[in-house]
Amino acid sequence: MDKSYVLKGTIVYTPDVDHFAFHEESYLVCEDGKVEGIYKELPEKFKSYYIYDYGNNLIIPGMCDMHLHAPQYGFRGMGQNIENSDWSSWFSRYAFPDEGRYSDISYAKKAYERLTDDLLHTTTTRVVAFASLHRKATELLMQILSEKGFAAYVGKVNMDRNSMEGLLESTEESLNETEEWLKNTHNKYEHVKPIITPRYIPSCTNEVMQGLSDLMKEYSVPVQSHLSEGLDEIAWVKELEPDIDFYGQAYDQYDMFGTVVPTIMAHCVFSTEKEIELLCNRNIWIAHCPNSNLQGSGTAAPVLRYMRAGAKVCLGTDASGGNTLSMMRIISDAMLASKVRWAYTERNGDPNATRDFLPLTSAFYLATKGGGSFWGNVGSFEKGYEFDAVVLDDSRVADFCNRTTYERVERMVSLSDDRDVKAKFICGKKVL
Ligand code: FE
Repeated sequence: MDKSYVLKGTIVYTPDVDHFAFHEESYLVCEDGKVEGIYKELPEKFKSYYIYDYGNNLIIPGMCDMHLHAPQYGFRGMGQNIENSDWSSWFSRYAFPDEGRYSDISYAKKAYERLTDDLLHTTTTRVVAFASLHRKATELLMQILSEKGFAAYVGKVNMDRNSMEGLLESTEESLNETEEWLKNTHNKYEHVKPIITPRYIPSCTNEVMQGLSDLMKEYSVPVQSHLSEGLDEIAWVKELEPDIDFYGQAYDQYDMFGTVVPTIMAHCVFSTEKEIELLCNRNIWIAHCPNSNLQGSGTAAPVLRYMRAGAKVCLGTDASGGNTLSMMRIISDAMLASKVRWAYTERNGDPNATRDFLPLTSAFYLATKGGGSFWGNVGSFEKGYEFDAVVLDDSRVADFCNRTTYERVERMVSLSDDRDVKAKFICGKKVL
């Protein structure tokens, strides 16, 4: 079977949020696309399997980017320093005009080929992406992701109010196109699936939300959206929905808040106590986007609190509100954001305050097993997990001293880039 083979290298993963497992120069056995086990000496019964010998390279689980705007990749690195980060300008100058280009399918093809080629050379194996409101371009993105071997959820975005000309649907069109897209894609690919995607409450009328809720139930597909990213956004939602107590209720009233189907809510920076209670007790994954939150408004979500309260937390690039596709960079930024948050909350000028930040172990866990749990047994090398693995050659950044495996991982989280990604396997298939 071509999905049964062995990788040799230094194997690293996080079985839980507080621990790394390290297996120096060992054998990782993949059997029929699943992790079979890790061995210091390869058992006799696997000796007939093909062995990819990566020497002492690091082998880590593939990473899950749980919040990415695929059509925004073109303007990555731009728009984060305009007019004191006035977000309406960011939308009108960059996000909306750029997303509008995806009505042109030949442009969409070029842009999505570039995005997915670049993604292939990162540590990311799975993505949960917003496409644009264009059905055909969304279907094309799903096709390209599938052809390149990714596992993904992709959303045709819904927007029937508060957008700009050229990037606005009528209510009827929005729902008809969504249904057509669901029909075309919900059973089309083995590993690339649709996800219902109201952009956020200000972009969607009550009629669209109700229609999406019905479609979500009929086709039994998960939901993703944005939640409590900014204070101005929360005030706007309150204005549009005066009867709600907190932002999340605007989704909950349409059963889109982790009651009927699994739900991903990006950001959750300014969630209230009531909202946090539901985030922690519902079938909701919080997609923490530290790079985007720091870039956009210098803020950071209370991730440690969410994790300690039992919420399901994962990480996202939020490209191109964030300026990177690298989940290694996002791990690094999650730790940095946690320090920033601690400095302006618990520390608050006290030089003797006890340090309490997101550790590397936990941040690595969020990027792998935390996001992977949305798919089930994904993001770890425990027996029976889907075989998503990335091989990293750290010789480019290594020094001339012996370093522990922990130090090698820490250094790669900080310093690695696409030059160091040597091989990649997704659902047991070698894709790079
Ligand atoms: Fe976003």
